[in-house]
Amino acid sequence: MISVEAALDKVLGFVDILEDEEKPLLECLGQVLAEDVYAPFDVPPQDNSAMDGYAVQVGSIKGASDESPRVLRVIGEVAAGYVTDLEVKPGMAIRIMTGAPVPKGADVVVPFELTDEVNHKDALASCSVTAEIGIYQELPEGLNIRHSGEDIARGVLVMKTGRLLRPAELGVLASVGRGKVKVIRRPMIAILATGDEVLDVNQPLSPGKIYNSNTYSLAAQVLSYGGIPKLLGIARDNIEDLSTSLRRGLDCDMLITSGGVSLGDYDVVKEFLAAEGEISFWTVCMKPGKPLAFGVFDGDNGRKIPHLGLPGNPVSSMITFEVFARPAIFKMMGRKNLVRATVKAVMEDPVKNSDGRRIFARVVVNRREGEYIAHLTGPQGSGILTSMSGADGLAVIPEATTDVKPGDIVEVMMLDQDGAWN
Ligand code: AMP
Ligand code: MG
Repeated sequence: MISVEAALDKVLGFVDILEDEEKPLLECLGQVLAEDVYAPFDVPPQDNSAMDGYAVQVGSIKGASDESPRVLRVIGEVAAGYVTDLEVKPGMAIRIMTGAPVPKGADVVVPFELTDEVNHKDALASCSVTAEIGIYQELPEGLNIRHSGEDIARGVLVMKTGRLLRPAELGVLASVGRGKVKVIRRPMIAILATGDEVLDVNQPLSPGKIYNSNTYSLAAQVLSYGGIPKLLGIARDNIEDLSTSLRRGLDCDMLITSGGVSLGDYDVVKEFLAAEGEISFWTVCMKPGKPLAFGVFDGDNGRKIPHLGLPGNPVSSMITFEVFARPAIFKMMGRKNLVRATVKAVMEDPVKNSDGRRIFARVVVNRREGEYIAHLTGPQGSGILTSMSGADGLAVIPEATTDVKPGDIVEVMMLDQDGAWN
């Protein structure tokens, strides 16, 4: 049996970062930037108001108070998206909206709340040249003005190659005018289910058969980690069918099969891979997910395509995907952090570790009095897929721990920070 780390090292040793592509910004969410982006202009491009109010000169409102407001002449108005030619001079004000460029001459914006605007509604509405505004407070220079370049100064390196693009990064790239960017492309992952007993969900269920759930959970894992799944359907338990089906995945970056790797039928995948490429078969020191095949398939033009042969049991296939395929996809996508965030949690249920493997127990994590608590999602058999669907984390029980007792602290890999149950 080899360790999880040794198996992962071997898998990662076969995958490389993919090429880049240029794409519309919104399609790049979750991908890694493949260019250095510099700011072609200041952001914001001009000084603008942070409040709805009046753009004035500091000198015009010195000494203003509730008892003795400074009364200024309103010479115009400027809305966001427009520029005014009017200039603010002593004793004058321009009504200004949030985001509107600050007019020439003004050095402070007085918010509506610090004025007697309510008393002048009619005059202001008719844009009367005699409109006035009373200011109740003196303010320091620059207040409520956002200065040009205060977010991003023209010419600076806004974002470096290698950066993971999350919603905020997409926003920053848009703010410097980038509608398209270069990113590392998404890997295409072929998914093939195997088994004479396995039926597609659209077929009627018949005696002895089960529905193919693995294709759906695995393809959805591919999607949620940023890859593009290519569904190859279901192969019967013979080499011809396996070979024909897998050949349709030769344009992919990785082949993933489920089933056919436990001792009874492991030969199908092994024989096939031995004939078409190279095979490594391991029993990995983990539970669930002990049997795992890994090979390199000879594609066209000498291209080598890694093949991960996951076990068929629905929980085992999802957890081995999580532990081996997710980091491989991330590496191909150029992501640097390949490991999940973990939290320490107080385990509420006992877990027995009878044969010294690393257990990935399906748990629900909650917070109570400042600490995380975790309980099992129910029976933990590797065929009980609902134990996975209810989980928001995997409690990782080390190989050397024989017994987890209620109250013991465990490390939990968080699958879903928002909580699967809520
Ligand atoms: P195997 O690894 O092929 O021996 O399969 C182990 C168990 O997983 C068997 O009970 C299979 O029926 C089940 N199984 C295999 N493939 C799938 C699949 N695609 N969907 C659901 N269950 C599966
Ligand atoms: Mg099978």
